[in-house]
Parts: sequence; structure tokens; C-alpha cells
Amino acid sequence: MTVHFPFDNSYAALPDGFFARVAPTPVTSPKLVKLNRRLATHLGLDPDWLESAEGVEILAGKRVPDGADPIAMAYAGHQFGHFVPQLGDGRAILLGEVIDADGVRRDIQLKGSGPTPFSRRGDGRAALGPVLREYIVSEAMAALGIPTTRSLAAVVTGENVVRETLLPGAVLTRVAASHIRVGTFQYFAARSDVAGVRRLADHVIARHYPDIAKAEHPYHALLDAVISRQAELVARWLLVGFIHGVMNTDNTSISGETIDYGPCAFMDAYDPATVFSSIDEMGRYAYGNQPRIALWNLTRFAECLLPLFSDDQEKAIAEAQSALGHFAQEFDTAYYAGLRKKLGLFTAREDDPDLANDLLKAMAENAADFTLTFRRLSDAALGPEGDAEVRKLFADPTAFDTWAAGWRQRLAEEPQDAAARQTAMRAVNPAFIPRNHRVEAIIEAAVNRNDYAPFEELLSVLSRPFEDQPAFGPYAEPPKPDERVLQTFCGT
Ligand code: AMP
Ligand code: MG
Repeated sequence: MTVHFPFDNSYAALPDGFFARVAPTPVTSPKLVKLNRRLATHLGLDPDWLESAEGVEILAGKRVPDGADPIAMAYAGHQFGHFVPQLGDGRAILLGEVIDADGVRRDIQLKGSGPTPFSRRGDGRAALGPVLREYIVSEAMAALGIPTTRSLAAVVTGENVVRETLLPGAVLTRVAASHIRVGTFQYFAARSDVAGVRRLADHVIARHYPDIAKAEHPYHALLDAVISRQAELVARWLLVGFIHGVMNTDNTSISGETIDYGPCAFMDAYDPATVFSSIDEMGRYAYGNQPRIALWNLTRFAECLLPLFSDDQEKAIAEAQSALGHFAQEFDTAYYAGLRKKLGLFTAREDDPDLANDLLKAMAENAADFTLTFRRLSDAALGPEGDAEVRKLFADPTAFDTWAAGWRQRLAEEPQDAAARQTAMRAVNPAFIPRNHRVEAIIEAAVNRNDYAPFEELLSVLSRPFEDQPAFGPYAEPPKPDERVLQTFCGT
């Protein structure tokens, strides 16, 4: 058969030290679980062909498509604050890059496709549960409008993987603007390979930040740009209650996409200290810590760039510090602009952050559901008749009343009418997020009962997060006490 993937590979053209050439390891009897047909079309791929036996074999790593140049990328990273000089794609293989319908270069990567020279003691495989979690959560994030890697397909391999128990193996086909991470820069920096860092920086500028290629100091501009995108990204996470779970530098994308969905989860009741990941015992990556950690990761990125800034190390450090000093402001700007929208405020006033923080404080003290509070607040914007539905989310409903009085005063000073406000609020305050107990339930059904109907239904509901979808109302509800999921697992 002829070429079906219009590959145009740029990363594989970089010097040898950037990756290892390695083919996926064939599996016995792959079966398609899900193909993202819309995404396939957007990437210039024929969805019908991808669903054919030959297409599924490619998605399972059993067959390598024409034009692919399969590689495992080298990278390093700080894991929970500890530096590991060599991590790399231990269970992922980049098949190649395609240019999508918008002209954007996108990586097509198989995750769980067998060992690579970077596998260390791992088996190079992925279990079905984590693959379904990444599929659902990444696609939900995309529907929420948050920069993220995408999921093109999930297949089961027909083989088991050994974890605490035997589990069905699976492969996720992941699509990303690129898989270049802070840890990719660290890999070269740790080897004092300045030429490697420069080569990578030039590749990243051309690929993700073409506007700065002609800047007077492109590497400084690169640091600024990566800081801006991370500040914006983490603000977006906070505004939907997302907790990444493993914000290691190797899981921090240089393009500013959310990447590496492991033990990630969405918060139900608002509490900045929320942690789900079973491996995050110290709460390093708790919901409210994420901006601080992003800055920490960006500081590691800046360290890699120092030799490109100046031969004078002190000067280079001062320049990097100055750039990093803008993070807090950029984060605050993005975060409070987002909160303002969530509150239905069209104009900006100096004390708006206080108004928002007062609500968040009342929510935290009263275990109010994050998503539902803002969603129902959208209807309360029409008038106090809507208050009843919001106040019942608060352990002490009068805490909401007190806050709402100040909010209504502030709304009265806005020029827009109530209906316009409600519409605008409903467009930023989702009804549906991938609630953890729902995600666990679809995984349980698929893994234990081979039943994918719940997965399909949840995926469909989450593709329209801002619509009411009355038939699926229960999906908007927080877990009942006995449904609450307290921990999520990496599953590696
Ligand atoms: P993660 O926690 O998925 O971000 O992965 C951290 C590092 O461990 C990366 O270098 C992965 O490639 C590697 N890794 C995770 N799971 C496996 C596995 N099953 N086999 C080989 N390497 C793995
Ligand atoms: Mg990772």
C-alpha cells in the first residue's frame, strides 16, 4: 500500500545524540478501542483507513508506516525535585511529524509501544487504564479550550502487562505540537553540551516561536516566551480545577501544552491543598502549588540557557532572573482575568481579585464544589432567584449570601445586561469536567468487564462541556461520599 501518513520529519534530522532510532515492538493481536476521527482528518489522515486492519496494526506498533522515522527522544529531568540526567522515551516512540490542516507541525507518537534504549528497568508498555485516562482527560482539556496534547487513538495489544497484577496492555497514539520538554534542554545542559542546547533552542524557536527568530536576542526572547506560555497554561489549569499530579521538568512541555497525563485529576470541592497522586506524598504538586512549581521548572529551563545568554555568567544569571521575575505578574494577570470572566465581570477593577478571593475562601471553608459553584453562579447572574442552587453547595449557605451581596453590588456597576452576563459566564464555566469517580468508573468497566460503552458516553458528554445536556445531568454532579476517589495512580 502507498503512504498514508504525510510525514515531514524534522526532529529526526537533528544530530544523533538527540534520540535513539528504534522501531516499536510488534504485539500479537491488536484491537482498536477508539479512533479520534475528527482529529485524524485534521491531521490529513484517512480515518477509515486507520480503522482498517492495517491502520490498527500501525496504531499498535505492529507495523511501521511508510515515511516514518521512529525514534525515542533523549531527555533528562527533575523528578520531585531530584535530578535524573537520563530519562528519555522509555515507552514511547515518535513515528514522525505531519503538518495539520492549520499548517501546524504535530508529532505522532505511540505510547506503550515497547522498550527503547531509555527504558531502564521498565517494560516499555502501558496498561489500558492509564491509556483510557489520558485519552479522556486530554480530550476533555481540549474541549475546555486548554492547550494540550491530543489523543488520536487507543488500542489494546492483546497482551498483558505486569504491574501489581496482570493488566491488559494498550497503546495510546498521542499528538503534540512537539514532545520537547524542559528536560530535553536539561539533557544537553547536564552534559555541558552547549552546542546541543543551542541546536535545540534553534529548533524550538523555528518550530514553536517563529516570531522571535529575528529578535535582537532570540534566546532571551525564547525564555520570555516559554515563561509566558507556562504562566498562561497553569492559570488555565487553576481556572478549571485541574491538578496535573506530576509536574516534573520532564513533564513540562516547551510549547506550552499540557503533557503527560498520569495521576492527574480534577478537583471536586475547592481546596487549594488538594492532591490525588499516590506518589506525591509531600503535596509538592498540590492544586495550589502549581504556579510555584511552574516557576521552579522554568528556573531549571533558564539555567540551561545561561551559556547562550552570555560568557559572563553573572550577567547571564541576572538576565535570567529578570525574565523569571515576570512570571508572577504574568500568572496573576492570566489568572485574575480568567476569574473575572468566571464571575461575569466584563470590565476590570482593582479590587476584583479580592472579590474573587473572598469567594474562593468561602468555597474552601464550606467545601463547595468548584465547578458547580461557578456554573450555577452563571444562572444566579440573572437574578437572586438563582441563588438557592448555589448556596446549597456551601456547608454554611450564609457564607455564600454574604459574598453574593458584594458581588451583586459590583455587577450593578457593569454596563452589560444580565442575559449577556449569563451567556458569557456559561461559556467559561463548564458544566462537565472529567470527574475522577467517573473516570475511574469507565476504566473499571473497560478493564474488568470489557465494556466500553461508559467510556464512549463520558467522552461524548465531555466533548461539549459548556452545554447543559440535561439527559446527562448526573455527570455534572460531584461524587457522593462513598463514590469519592481519594488517590490516583501513575500506572507505569
Ligand atoms: P512518566 O512518569 O510517565 O512521566 O515517566 C517518567 C520516565 O519513566 C520516562 O523516562 C518514561 O519513559 C519512563 N517510563 C515510565 N513507564 C515506563 C515503562 N513502563 N517502561 C519504560 N520506561 C517507562
Ligand atoms: Mg513523563
